[in-house]
Amino acid sequence: MSNNNRISEIRENIKSGVISSKAVTLDILGKINNSDLNCFISLVDAVEQAEIMDEKIKNGFDGPLAGVPVAIKDNMRYKGSVTTCGSAILTQKDEINCAVVDRLREAGAIIIGKTNMDEFAMGSSNTTSAYGNVLNPVAKDRVPGGSSGGSAAAVAADLCYAALGSDTGGSIRQPASYCGVVGLKPTLGSIDGSGMYALSQDMDQIGPITKTVDENRILFEVLSGRKMQKAEINGLKIGFVNDFKAWYTQDTQKVINRAKEVLSKIGCSFTEIDLPSANAAFATYCVLGNAQSANNLRDIGTTAERDQRLGKEVKKRILIGEYVLCHPEIIDRAKRVKNKIIREFEEAFKLCDVIVSPSAPSVAFKFTDDRRNKEIVYSDIFTQPPSIAGLPALSVPCVTNEESLPIGVQLVGKKYSENVLFELGKMFE
Ligand code: GLN
Repeated sequence: MSNNNRISEIRENIKSGVISSKAVTLDILGKINNSDLNCFISLVDAVEQAEIMDEKIKNGFDGPLAGVPVAIKDNMRYKGSVTTCGSAILTQKDEINCAVVDRLREAGAIIIGKTNMDEFAMGSSNTTSAYGNVLNPVAKDRVPGGSSGGSAAAVAADLCYAALGSDTGGSIRQPASYCGVVGLKPTLGSIDGSGMYALSQDMDQIGPITKTVDENRILFEVLSGRKMQKAEINGLKIGFVNDFKAWYTQDTQKVINRAKEVLSKIGCSFTEIDLPSANAAFATYCVLGNAQSANNLRDIGTTAERDQRLGKEVKKRILIGEYVLCHPEIIDRAKRVKNKIIREFEEAFKLCDVIVSPSAPSVAFKFTDDRRNKEIVYSDIFTQPPSIAGLPALSVPCVTNEESLPIGVQLVGKKYSENVLFELGKMFE
């Protein structure tokens, strides 16, 4: 079972006066200062927030995150901080908070700082950040995944109680898998993303990264404003994707075996489903994602600044994006494939309730590994198809390989079925 719900525990302790939010916050800040993982790009006015929160709590304030330090990815605006998106090109202080900061604050959270990320959320390893690599706390010679690598590593290393990430093609679930934590990409549109720098607004979704599923649910309820109804999970029909099989290795096959073992205990039945266009998800994602990114980034900086301050990955994607924008027939074709993927999921969900796969095709790779390796190029192969279809997907730590490196299981549900995913996810803890 889960190693507890540290968020509720610390909140109770703060509420009952066992410890102050300020003390909890100072403890976290101390850990961040002693850490060499480079999870944070900047820290904010957390002590001040905590002092105010302690007063409010004394005067009767209560909230699901009252006094609890939470980190946000540095593509989310926070008044008074520079939101860098991991890029050297953004240097202005924010004048507004993004919507999720307001939701967190209403629930009583202390915003502790802004986490490192791949530049403009473009990447799967947190190595394209202008602020340096993030090290994976599980094994420091390995990447934490990306683009929300700082958030996943910070949670895994106890440098916050929860962190927000954003996920376009896998940027919450893949780092969660690599770092051994829980990450949710919610149903597209279920959390207000205003005030966040968009990568590709048709697929971007903010979501929580936490140590346990229960904690993830708390964050999701706060962020979405939806209370999770109890879901019946005994006897659910679980689908495994035939078209993913070619990707299975010894490590990822272990995920499938373990999933069957865990889920058969609660009377689930298993079926094989087809997603024939899943293998076209990568190309579809590249065309549609890069076209939107190029549009979104067009007005950032002067030509000279763009030349000097944008990283190689960002420039490459702008080029691809501008190219496809000049060729509407490519975009039309990608949109047709996107619709096919959506229809294939609809068909699949006539045969099953939840689709289960590994979250990533491998464990976290080494900084020195050859980036042309298939599992590295296609590290989002399992996370992109549900992203394109706007479906909710939860990654929960599932197995470890011979070197004790984690891999997550990805549970994909019908739209707005997060409650089902949380209940099922708990079975893996
Ligand atoms: N790794 C993917 C990419 O590089 C996904 C990024 C994301 O979800 N933000 O585009």
